[in-house]
Amino acid sequence: MNIAIDGPAGAGKSTIARLAAKELGFIYVDTGAMYRAIALYLLDSKTDIENIDAVKQALDNININIVYDKGVQHVFLNLQDVSAEIRSEKVGNMASRSSAIKEVREKLLSLQRDIAEKNDVIMDGRDIGTNILPNAELKIYLTASADVRAKRRFDELKNAGEWPDFEKIKADIINRDEQDMSREIAPLRQADDAVLVDSSDMSISEVVDSIVALANERR
Ligand code: C5P
Repeated sequence: MNIAIDGPAGAGKSTIARLAAKELGFIYVDTGAMYRAIALYLLDSKTDIENIDAVKQALDNININIVYDKGVQHVFLNLQDVSAEIRSEKVGNMASRSSAIKEVREKLLSLQRDIAEKNDVIMDGRDIGTNILPNAELKIYLTASADVRAKRRFDELKNAGEWPDFEKIKADIINRDEQDMSREIAPLRQADDAVLVDSSDMSISEVVDSIVALANERR
């Protein structure tokens, strides 16, 4: 069974998907982490992403592997585990820019479909229900207000020991939404057959329970 969860940055997709996957006995696939790993390489190699030849050359040098250790996804970039490094705002913002490039998306498409074909998955991202897994048995579009999402990201960074600036995070989130929704290839949008869940006023367990219930109905 395949479950697709799409939605804007900071909607809680990864937290929710991870918990729901645990309850259902599925694998949680975080596709954003794959885009982030590519973004990390582009940043480290100082690739000019406006130059498509430079991007293509960089992509040729990138090898992404996904490994599961006790149900936790680890992303390897050229054999190095970058799962922690990719979580910064800088990498997230670069991922949002570079993920609009056709060649970047093409590189990850078969990797994502392959994992979904071989496993029961909850896969989260921006184009899972609309593009990667159009036949997913359950599609969720998870969203929340920009204020709530910025507050969640703020708390997350603070708990990680950083000193985040709330207004900057909110501006980044709004900017990221705009980029993800307006790009030409695989823009973020709710699939026609996706269930809309607005988590602004819901607790994590309320959202998880509702998704698990929907999944069990369709199993
Ligand atoms: O979800 P996360 O914040 O980790 O994703 C980082 C960026 O990667 C997003 O802003 C989006 O531009 C891109 N992305 C995407 N398609 C996906 C997953 C992520 O374009 N399926």
